[in-house]
Amino acid sequence: MSSLRLPLLESVFCAVSLGAIVLDNERRIVLWNSWMVKHSGLKHEQVLGQDFFAVCPELRGGRVDTAIQHALYNNFPSLLSQTLNKAPFALYLSPAAAAHDERMQQAVEVTPIAIEGTARHCLIQVSDVSIAVGRERLLREQTMVLRSQTFSDGLTGIANRRHFDVAMEKEHRRAKRGGTPLSLLMIDIDHFKAYNDHYGHQKGDQCLIQVAAALAGILKRPCDLMARYGGEEFAMILPETDVNQALLMAEAIRARTQELAIPHERTTDASQLVTVSIGIATQKAEATVEIDALIGAADRALYQAKRNGRNRVAALQS
Ligand code: GH3
Ligand code: MG
Ligand code: MG
Repeated sequence: MSSLRLPLLESVFCAVSLGAIVLDNERRIVLWNSWMVKHSGLKHEQVLGQDFFAVCPELRGGRVDTAIQHALYNNFPSLLSQTLNKAPFALYLSPAAAAHDERMQQAVEVTPIAIEGTARHCLIQVSDVSIAVGRERLLREQTMVLRSQTFSDGLTGIANRRHFDVAMEKEHRRAKRGGTPLSLLMIDIDHFKAYNDHYGHQKGDQCLIQVAAALAGILKRPCDLMARYGGEEFAMILPETDVNQALLMAEAIRARTQELAIPHERTTDASQLVTVSIGIATQKAEATVEIDALIGAADRALYQAKRNGRNRVAALQS
């Protein structure tokens, strides 16, 4: 059995599916297993006995170099994760990947090896973590999709009520801190119950999608937010916007909705088109109010716009 041990160990060393390199105390390559040959393209005879940094010059002075020094001269091991070190060795999963210089994702471990009667050696193990990295990337992408779904409305694709609540908190705090005005628009489709009753719920949904897209398309600044607040009601947050600027924006929204020219036979509006009424509440820079009070004021303004005949804008200053 003992005569079999050495060749057996060598076969095992070559058969394992990870890269294994052994360096002596002078950092010369003593062992370079078949996995390394396969993925680096460098044969045993090209590397054995060579200085490690003559074979892998780009690793000189980097983390792998430090890890080798720690192992050989301080006798402690190191683990270099893929996240921090990317792909230190020029190793490839296929000739095609090598042609494009797309390196295999790697985790590298450097371990000191004590050998009786001779100076310390070190073992460098390289494992292929491409699958784990790919899985991680997929999970990250899925998380982003899920996060965007929890903040967008299923029917119209614009921001939902939850997104509105979070954005409102943030902008309210920012306005208070920065001493800037903040405007809120409540936008409600006129006679939408009658629209649904006359044209059917599906047409109603189409109308909501069309109006939502038009309203969201009006926004110009990244800090502005248009959200579906509920049913056929939308809300727009306009930071650093006083009542006069908010009135201009509201008028643009009102006109844009009418320009969509969606027929509505059962409306009281002479145009016989789908229209919206808009309530504006503005918090002045020097007089902040609670969020609920601001929403309440926008609701009251909206009610006033409805009472005054719909397809119009009304404003209240808090
Ligand atoms: P007003 O001009 O006073 O706003 O009248 P209105 O009929 O628009 O107001 P009301 O609140 O009475 O009716 C709103 C309607 O909106 C009732 C409901 O059927 C419809 N609605 C709410 N959400 C949806 C939706 O997701 N899809 C469709 N198709 N209709 C919806
Ligand atoms: Mg309505
Ligand atoms: Mg309503």
